[in-house]
Amino acid sequence: MSPSVSALKALPVSDDREAVVAHLNAIAGGLDLPGRLKAARAALAGKLTFTTSFGLEDQAIAHAILDQGLDIDLVTLDTGRLFQETHDVWAATEARYGVRIRAVAPEASAVAALLADQGANGFRNSVAARQDCCHVRKVLPLKAALDGAQGWITGLRADQSAHRAAVPFAAIDAERGLIKINPLYDWTRDDAVAFTRQHAVPVNELHGRGFLSIGCAPCTRAVQPGEPERAGRWWWEDEGKNECGLHANPLHLAARAKFKEAQHS
Ligand code: SF4
Repeated sequence: MSPSVSALKALPVSDDREAVVAHLNAIAGGLDLPGRLKAARAALAGKLTFTTSFGLEDQAIAHAILDQGLDIDLVTLDTGRLFQETHDVWAATEARYGVRIRAVAPEASAVAALLADQGANGFRNSVAARQDCCHVRKVLPLKAALDGAQGWITGLRADQSAHRAAVPFAAIDAERGLIKINPLYDWTRDDAVAFTRQHAVPVNELHGRGFLSIGCAPCTRAVQPGEPERAGRWWWEDEGKNECGLHANPLHLAARAKFKEAQHS
């Protein structure tokens, strides 16, 4: 369904975050993915950034942005530990849409400090060590990627996990001082599969080998039929801890001061 002209015109571009969030949540149910992104772009003042990991959901969003030529900044967090297959779909996406996707890497000094502290694969030693690694390789680069952004688009779906069950279309992210937009909040994985197939969007080859949620290579495995979607992420940790800190995981918020300022000092 395309967004109606009246829906998009209902709220002029505004700096009033609460009004923007209320407006977007009121109209989201009547819009398809392209319409939701168009409405978000129309309602938000300033820079709107989409962070992609080139997973299935993010590829659907990238298509809807690039196919419409929306003024939305695309950026990926190049952690230094990604799969070759992720680099391949990154390249295929750039070729398909004729764009360069901005990459933000962790600061070399922060990585050096991390490796000196925990070794090459120290993230397997404890939850705290893993969070240190995610903090250096993901959380701090995300902060840099979102610098100056008034809005942040993500590929979160509410049915991915209990941790994400309450994800709305739009919400104020008070920690980062912006509006977070989750245009797939009410999608299923099957919806994302159908959309990418319908539009012949490049997808990561690993999805076809049982990798449902794809992050860094050493911290992602394929899942067995019937396992939760995110069971392949940090599988050696207790259930419920399989978030990296990008989406306000309380475990992240409680920790990692020692590397926190390394990147921005
Ligand atoms: S997913 Fe693994 S390798 Fe990647 S940043 Fe987190 S702990 Fe480090």
